Amino acid sequence: MRLDDTIAAIATAQQPSGLGVIRISGPQALAAAELIFRSSGAVALSEAPSHQFRHGWIADAEGWVDEVLAVVMREPRSFTTEDVVELHCHGSVLVQQTILGLLIEQGVRLAEPGEFTRRAFLKGRLDLTRVEAISDLIHARSKGGMRVAAQQLRGQLFEAISAVQEQLIQVASLVEASIEFPEEGETFTHREDCLRRIEDASCELERLLAHADQGRRLREGVATALIGRPNVGKSSLLNALLRESRAIVTAVPGTTRDLIEETVQLHGLAFRLTDTAGLRESSDEVESEGIRRTRNTWSAAELVVLVVDQNQPPDAEDQRLLAEADPARTLVAQNKADLPSGNEVQDAWQTVLQDFEAVRMSATTGEGLELLKARMVRRAMGGELPRAEEVWITNLRQQQAAQQALDALRQAQTTLEQDAGEEYLALDLRHALNALGAVVGETTADDLLARIFSEFCIGK
Ligand code: GDP
Repeated sequence: MRLDDTIAAIATAQQPSGLGVIRISGPQALAAAELIFRSSGAVALSEAPSHQFRHGWIADAEGWVDEVLAVVMREPRSFTTEDVVELHCHGSVLVQQTILGLLIEQGVRLAEPGEFTRRAFLKGRLDLTRVEAISDLIHARSKGGMRVAAQQLRGQLFEAISAVQEQLIQVASLVEASIEFPEEGETFTHREDCLRRIEDASCELERLLAHADQGRRLREGVATALIGRPNVGKSSLLNALLRESRAIVTAVPGTTRDLIEETVQLHGLAFRLTDTAGLRESSDEVESEGIRRTRNTWSAAELVVLVVDQNQPPDAEDQRLLAEADPARTLVAQNKADLPSGNEVQDAWQTVLQDFEAVRMSATTGEGLELLKARMVRRAMGGELPRAEEVWITNLRQQQAAQQALDALRQAQTTLEQDAGEEYLALDLRHALNALGAVVGETTADDLLARIFSEFCIGK
């Protein structure tokens, strides 16, 4: 991909809206914009001060196109570090496409998806964690996801990783020096100092990794399965959580055969809820397919909400579901708490639920629903939502690279403790530094980078 030409793209969504933005970046950005922009003032766009809006009009050979504002951002103080011009027009699809067409006629190239961000990355303005944060912010599904993405965009993860890198570079240079100038008969002089620094670095990585699963859940949402035998109120619960009726609620058992996925936001965290069919034995083909899908959803879920009807004593199917459920991943919703139920039934439930966390609630009246929501959040996040100063790893790529770095550091510790030789230690440290470099994009493979940028929108 060329880096020295001028690119343009529509940066806003392609639907009628208040404003549309066309973005141009590269050495010819000002010249190209000037050719299509009729400034209302005396100052030509190419002479205009940086970072100030100019009013003007766009026209083509046949007539006027739109009234626009143009802002020039001169290199290096722009998103891409190149000369950038943004044209703010009305949010008409046709106007935006006409303006883009005029720019292409001036020799500007249509940008590929994510190409502006890619230029910003390749020119060192953004590291890979910030690049990913931009994509995460654009696609955030929940307040929590938005907050961690914004924190990451502010550079918190980058700084945390950089600090560890710095520690290790110092250790590596001590080790390299001792390899280069071995003093005869003497063991490695900086052993204690190196060990302490490696331990510090490991602790910091452990701290970052401790929240990685939660960070990912904030970003991606929590895969949640609603399980329970027919008619216990799964669809009603889903609807109560959604506060809108998407699933068809019916009194005939076993009719929710298709899996319905809905996203609900609870306390700033997105739950991707799938309502499932029951698990009872069935000879009906359609129902058997439903049961197969239920099992798949169940095994893939990070959180299972097992719904029971607490007015009826646990039956064989309830027992089977409970026997299969993993208490560590499961929260039991004891539904229909608004209906009166006898002590005997209550006692029976207490016995079968003793290994489970259970919440008495009613999908109909909303009683206990707040508690259930709070428990769902606690289960998914270990009770924690990100605080402003906290650093979070938010995706699998970052998590795996940081884990590799930690593994290499543990190896380095062993190498040091066993006095296995400085060459081995140097190698372990190089592995750790490489893995950390991958987190921030310094040593990331090209094909992986290409994939990350290709998932961006055009114009970003
Ligand atoms: P599903 O088959 O598990 O999805 O169950 P549904 O949500 O379709 O509910 C089955 C029946 O139980 C419907 O008639 C609901 O109105 C009723 N129901 C669901 N939740 C409650 C509840 O909390 N209290 C009462 N009284 N009825 C409920």
